[in-house]
Amino acid sequence: MTSDPTVVVVGGGLAGLRTVEELRARGHQGAITLIGAEARPPYDRPPLSKKLMTGEIDDTSLRADLDSLDVDLRLCETATQLRHRILETDGGEYPFDALVVATGAVPVRLPGAGAQHVLRTIDEALALRTLLRPGTRLSIVGAGWIGAELATAARTRGCVVTVLEAAGQPLAAAIGEEIGVIVARWYAEAGVELRLGQKVASIEDGGIALAGGDWHAADVVVTAVGVRPAVAWLDTSPVRLENGIAVDGQLRTSMPGVFAAGDCASFWSARFGRRLRFEHWDVALHAPEVVAANVLGDSAPYDPVPYFWSEQFGRMVQYVGWHGDADQLIWRGDPRADKKWAACWLADRRLMAMLTVSSPRDLLQARRLIEAAADVDPARLADPAVAVRDCAV
Ligand SMILES: Cc1cc2nc3c(=O)[nH]c(=O)nc-3n(C[C@H](O)[C@H](O)[C@H](O)COP(=O)(O)OP(=O)(O)OC[C@H]3O[C@@H](n4cnc5c(N)ncnc54)[C@H](O)[C@@H]3O)c2cc1C
Repeated sequence: MTSDPTVVVVGGGLAGLRTVEELRARGHQGAITLIGAEARPPYDRPPLSKKLMTGEIDDTSLRADLDSLDVDLRLCETATQLRHRILETDGGEYPFDALVVATGAVPVRLPGAGAQHVLRTIDEALALRTLLRPGTRLSIVGAGWIGAELATAARTRGCVVTVLEAAGQPLAAAIGEEIGVIVARWYAEAGVELRLGQKVASIEDGGIALAGGDWHAADVVVTAVGVRPAVAWLDTSPVRLENGIAVDGQLRTSMPGVFAAGDCASFWSARFGRRLRFEHWDVALHAPEVVAANVLGDSAPYDPVPYFWSEQFGRMVQYVGWHGDADQLIWRGDPRADKKWAACWLADRRLMAMLTVSSPRDLLQARRLIEAAADVDPARLADPAVAVRDCAV
């Protein structure tokens, strides 16, 4: 590969745009093409379920000077096939020296012929927002992060909001039932009806058919039951897929010259000793630093301490790390009484992850301890009067 390879980036979201920016920031002078299926230039998604949905903002464009980036931007064009050093789209063929795949994720939809909204693109968000009027009966399927944020926004617009969740508690799959029990109270306080253990059979005109045969009437139904990596177009390619595009600890796929980053990529994490994929804004923001360096011939390692946030029911919820292998959950503060508290996951005294509620300082300090693979004193960590950074042993 020459020092100025021809680079094609597929996926016009945050990870795609950031890859272009990082390539240019590293002095890359070769041709860069950015191909995106959507009609709009890159924009941010987190505000779609927050300030855009409440009506505080209408535009979430990512501020980027596409002219000075000297990028050939191809909107409304969808990648369909990948061959040796050639990307095929529905608009043409793009030869490349290096390809970065950043196609993100697509929402899961439920069966049924009724109108079913999802929340991934700005156009979906704007269309949904026009329906959220005072008195509208909005039913959200899924009490995950997006479901909670949408419920929060819809209450501020005067909707009558019901959330149907198949599990026994909100966020149970993500952060466990103990925390879910606490979170369930936030729904009640906000005047949102949370119906747990509700398996949806299908979305029909005028409402939701439940698996047990019951009917739930609704004016507007939003399905918020998670996303899948947008990689179906690679099914027939040689690229190895494993919960998304399998990349190594340098974001390289199994196909020479092809890299992947963001929501679509599952990477090998030496830190956590397994393959992981995250759907976090912060991951899409920073992975391109590594991908760009490696496209340009470096061997930069990729092994982040993952981080995300969620704004729901007047609270700033933040999570850092990964608690999959943790064997102990410690409360820092009293989640039933305190406005600010945290849940800390330990594996054999090592801090693996922390979820904080309205405690950004704890979060930042936890991130440093997790980065340092620090062991902590559980008793001190449980005491909110002791700074998190002073809990390392
Ligand atoms: C409503 C909402 C709220 C969120 N809130 C938060 C939050 O509070 N905190 C947080 O950490 N994260 C949040 N996220 C997640 C965060 O936005 C994502 O992790 C981030 O957008 C991932 O960026 P990406 O570039 O990897 O993928 P995407 O943003 O999904 O971009 C991928 C792009 O690729 C395009 N594409 C897909 N397939 C093809 C193809 N075959 N050819 C061409 N183009 C293609 C897609 O159309 C899309 O434009 C939220 C997401 C949503 C939807």
